[in-house]
Amino acid sequence: MLAGTMAVNLGSGIVSEAMQATISAVDATASRWDAIVIGAGLAGSIAARGLALAGQRVLLIEKNHFPRDKVCGACLNGDALAGLAAVGLLGEVKKLGGHALNRYRLQVGARHLQVPLDAGHAVSRRALDGLLVRAAITAGVQYLSPAQAAVADVDPGDRNRVVRLIGTDYCLHASVVVVAAGLVGQQRIDDASCQTVAANDSRIGLGMHAARYPAFYQPGTIYMAVSSGGYVGLTCTEGGILNIAAAVDRDLLKQHSGAETLALILQSAGMPADASMFDHPCRGTAPLTRRRQMLASHRLFFIGDAAGYVEPFTGEGMAWAVRGARAVIPFALAAIDDWNPNQPLIWTQTCQQIIGRHQWLCRGFAGLLRRPQLCSVAIRAAMTMPMFGRAIVRKLNQVTHHEVLDHRPGHRIAV
Ligand SMILES: Cc1cc2nc3c(=O)[nH]c(=O)nc-3n(C[C@H](O)[C@H](O)[C@H](O)COP(=O)(O)OP(=O)(O)OC[C@H]3O[C@@H](n4cnc5c(N)ncnc54)[C@H](O)[C@@H]3O)c2cc1C
Repeated sequence: MLAGTMAVNLGSGIVSEAMQATISAVDATASRWDAIVIGAGLAGSIAARGLALAGQRVLLIEKNHFPRDKVCGACLNGDALAGLAAVGLLGEVKKLGGHALNRYRLQVGARHLQVPLDAGHAVSRRALDGLLVRAAITAGVQYLSPAQAAVADVDPGDRNRVVRLIGTDYCLHASVVVVAAGLVGQQRIDDASCQTVAANDSRIGLGMHAARYPAFYQPGTIYMAVSSGGYVGLTCTEGGILNIAAAVDRDLLKQHSGAETLALILQSAGMPADASMFDHPCRGTAPLTRRRQMLASHRLFFIGDAAGYVEPFTGEGMAWAVRGARAVIPFALAAIDDWNPNQPLIWTQTCQQIIGRHQWLCRGFAGLLRRPQLCSVAIRAAMTMPMFGRAIVRKLNQVTHHEVLDHRPGHRIAV
């Protein structure tokens, strides 16, 4: 066990290590940081670690006590695994346990489609995110938690970006700030082009885990149940826990509790839903689909879900978070050396190239999943042409390369 952690049983069969801060708020205010990263999810921890490995003084701020649960399907796709391998962490991730994913099963009413998966791994976010924070700390990152951060207004001539700790008088200074605060932690900053806009019809995310569930749900498969009110994804993670995550219509949630909503969707898609599956707390998210016009501002970059998000399908969000975290490193290093006012535009365009192109396919699927009858027709078509379904899943898992993703310590690319 690492120094600064202690084992805790979380009452669900999962044993995790409680994460301790490595620095106090008072001590953090005494330094001028090269980089402050807000949010210790996948994107924040990987970016903070990458910057520390490049020799920078980095502070990672997280508002929640870790380990924490997070609404997520817990499925790392092929691209996410390739990203974790590229930053040298895939071996550690596999050691967490979890299950290799080899099958995707989509069910709508009486119809179901099974597609083999070439790559994928299911592991709880509690374990995964804890590992990534520990890896960041090992690389030299200072970790301040629990602490909620907000980016302060800025004078564009400033050589600093200031971060306030909410509920305190503390202000922290850094050459560059990376916002990786996820969906719920959308930062309001004084740059209108960076404000987020949520889609009017955006669904809400729901998540829970089950220690007891029907034998139907087997390790290695992603189960997806689709109904008119939303869709639910289920997969087995380490310790025999079933992870349940969903994107559901807001109207359905006005009439039913979260657990009832999950059960209704599973039942109407013809999938088993015992009452025993739903005796853990159900968590919700902010509206899922949202975008920012610009993904950076003066000495500040948005990455991961904080940069925008579309509804989940087979596990793309974590791949995009890893991509953003790797790609932001050369940008942040250049900004620490010397701020170039063109950087916000270049970063926004880079994100379009490395992530935006992947998101259009997910938007298409999110649209299809909102129309169960059309979905059912698509399943029938895919059953008669199995290559069709496989080609789509392969496309979603596709690993694409880009120079900005392969930053090496000591090598600065022009941005
Ligand atoms: C229902 C659902 C199912 C999904 N299924 C999958 C899946 O199977 N596979 C997949 O790849 N993706 C999936 N995703 C998407 C995936 O969960 C996200 O894309 C991914 O977690 C993004 O990582 P992140 O680091 O940007 O944000 P997060 O993981 O949300 O991390 C953000 C962190 O910032 C912290 N924070 C927020 N505000 C502040 C603040 N002000 N100060 C300090 N800290 C702050 C939060 O506490 C949190 O720890 C799913 C999402 C949903 C909603």
